[in-house]
Amino acid sequence: MIMKKALLLALPISLGIVAQTAQAQKIRAKEVKKIITTLAADDMGGRPTFKPGIDKASVFLENEFKKAGLQPLAGSKGYRQEFNMYTVKSASVRFLVNSREWRRDDVAVVSNQPRIEWRNTDKITVETITDAGVLRDKYRAAQDGSVESPTLVWVDASLASAFKGLKGRRARPLMSGEKDNPVVFVLKDGANEKVAEWSLSATQELNIMHLNNVAGIITGESKPDEYVVFSGHYDHIGILKPNEAKDSIANGADDDASGTTAVVMLANYYKKKKPARSIIFVAFTAEEIGGYGSQYFSRQLDPAKVVAMFNIEMIGKESKFGRNSAFITGFEKSDFGTILQKNLQGSAFKFHPDPYPEQNLFYRSDNATLARLGVPAHTISTTQIDKDKLYHSVDDEVESLDIQNITDIIKAIAKSAESIISGKDTPTRVTDVK
Ligand SMILES: [Zn+2]
Repeated sequence: MIMKKALLLALPISLGIVAQTAQAQKIRAKEVKKIITTLAADDMGGRPTFKPGIDKASVFLENEFKKAGLQPLAGSKGYRQEFNMYTVKSASVRFLVNSREWRRDDVAVVSNQPRIEWRNTDKITVETITDAGVLRDKYRAAQDGSVESPTLVWVDASLASAFKGLKGRRARPLMSGEKDNPVVFVLKDGANEKVAEWSLSATQELNIMHLNNVAGIITGESKPDEYVVFSGHYDHIGILKPNEAKDSIANGADDDASGTTAVVMLANYYKKKKPARSIIFVAFTAEEIGGYGSQYFSRQLDPAKVVAMFNIEMIGKESKFGRNSAFITGFEKSDFGTILQKNLQGSAFKFHPDPYPEQNLFYRSDNATLARLGVPAHTISTTQIDKDKLYHSVDDEVESLDIQNITDIIKAIAKSAESIISGKDTPTRVTDVK
């Protein structure tokens, strides 16, 4: 689960009921433990995006998808759904005012274009900012690429320290194809000389980085053009400050090796079922650094053809409702949850609405992009996000998880999805999104 930030059972009874269907028995605790342990092992290095550990995790998942008998997505040779991102560094800046060169340190260029050549006769918006809060907002908007036109911002000399602080802010990595309007911040000096003319010449260095989701599909028998998506994210946050036991690897066993394991188990489960609708299984990259994997994936699909998305995130421990339960984010935004619950009638399992609405979890996970496009895309979770001390720590290890509970949840998800997979139920679309 991505950090919250501005930018996102009564055991014997339930087992008895779930075990009634022979298929469900194929979801076994032993296999769940094996997969989750592999993904959360120290040699995966906490699976940070852009580092070798995550590549190892990708290779492992590709192999699991192959063993499950999935097909690669249309247009792909293998299970890797590859894309690029990049970071930008200002390489050179030359800003002239009345033919005199401005101090380089007092100019901040926020742009992902390799080269900018501006003069005051060009169509550039010019603004002056005299308030630190306004400056911070503008800088953030510039880094997010949400400024409407190319802009030169004169920053009042009194805001020198705020300006310096912002200049050091690392920009988020960008996805290929993202274009912005350059925004150039210039800190005024005390002289306040009248500006008769100005010009800017700047270059930026782009550093291209490769990353990939892992995705496969079972083509539906009777409704192949209608998709149901099962997803989890396989990246995590990598290396942190060591704890007392000198452990520095954030293994991300709950977050989200647990959900990724569910995706693999469900792939194996449904492969044998000859589903009516097509089912896509996907392990996302780069969730923790901004949800980029799911954003890329979502843009490759026609959202109108996606009937439902089951995003599974942090199901490693009991929910606040105890065993035999999980919650669904954005429960009230479609009838997805109601359908799932209906399919579990007679079992002890219950899906609850998200008990932490103030945490904004619906928008903090990989379902958000498709949900904004109208897809009934929800996240299923058991996290006790308000008090889980292991969240995003080096102690999020397999030993802290309840493997039997995870197994029961995966079985419940499999059963609850049945009428959607078979084409009998179609959840209502999501309209209320921000
Ligand atoms: Zn997380």
